[in-house]
Amino acid sequence: MLKKDISLLRCPYCGFSFHIHLEVEGDAKNIEYGTVYCRCDEFPIVYGILYLHKKRHKHIVSSLQSGNTAQALRYALPRYAQYVVTPTIVGSVGLAGIQMIIGFINNLTYYINRQRESESLLIFYPYMVVARQVKGKACVWLDIGSGIKHYYRALRKLHTRLQIISLEQSFLNIFLSRAIDPEKQKTMHICVDAGVGMCLKPKSADIVTCHDAFPFIARQKAVASYCTTMVKRTGIVSFASIPEHQYLSFRSAVNPIHRSLLKSYFPTPPTFIHEANLLSMMGQKTIDFSKVFIHDHDPVFRYMCMWPQVKKDAVYTNVIPKHFIQGKLPPWTKGPKFWQNIVY
Ligand SMILES: [Zn+2]
Repeated sequence: MLKKDISLLRCPYCGFSFHIHLEVEGDAKNIEYGTVYCRCDEFPIVYGILYLHKKRHKHIVSSLQSGNTAQALRYALPRYAQYVVTPTIVGSVGLAGIQMIIGFINNLTYYINRQRESESLLIFYPYMVVARQVKGKACVWLDIGSGIKHYYRALRKLHTRLQIISLEQSFLNIFLSRAIDPEKQKTMHICVDAGVGMCLKPKSADIVTCHDAFPFIARQKAVASYCTTMVKRTGIVSFASIPEHQYLSFRSAVNPIHRSLLKSYFPTPPTFIHEANLLSMMGQKTIDFSKVFIHDHDPVFRYMCMWPQVKKDAVYTNVIPKHFIQGKLPPWTKGPKFWQNIVY
């Protein structure tokens, strides 16, 4: 984690900024292992990841205070992965090798193959909306629930002054993400549940995305409220791949949400977008969002939501690199219903 970037962050529990306390491993600009403090607690940085869960963090801090980085990493990882997922093993066998090794315990296939699905390209759309406003300026992007694979490198090519803050609740996912990313130091990684509080000061982000992650968050109302508070007045909040109905078994922990309810979580009405129709335009030179707006009673399997509203007459330049479009799996437009009750 770059030292200069720490000033961008806020503690989600007390709201105050962080200061460096301990530097165990790193260099003049970067901290790989160390600790930071705010007004409520001391939190560890492990393998360049700021660990903000209030679970095992004291064990990790204590390991770092005694200079034992390997033990700190073991405390941060889930128990079953502690002795398998080490930086050396990830470096030598790669992500696919790690998946084979721990696949029998925890199946990561979905996270690793997510980029094969066209839905993964939805991450480029919110950038199209603000591209003109942020051109030539520094742009802060908070990405919630980023998983293992991402398009951060491609996004940084589109916008050289892009600062990506990647927030993810699974330490294992971020660890694997950093292990395979040659530009890992350019991304700020935070390990925390998005529902506990704001990790940036109000009105400081140009883009806030929560793609393919919002349905897995329990505290959806709180997260929507934090996102709308952290984004700048000229910025955009984007949630994607939200199902309106339960289409998987309860074991999958998907929390579908109806548009009418999600709408009530925003201070002003957002724009709802038919994401399969939006993706059908992914090869076009310009994207006319007004063609894919959905209204209260339009039936839809999965939808995308942007706040504040996307202008009706705005047509944006498509920025999705062509080589990403080829070979993508088509968007998922219907799913089985394993369970249906009065709510879903
Ligand atoms: Zn704090």
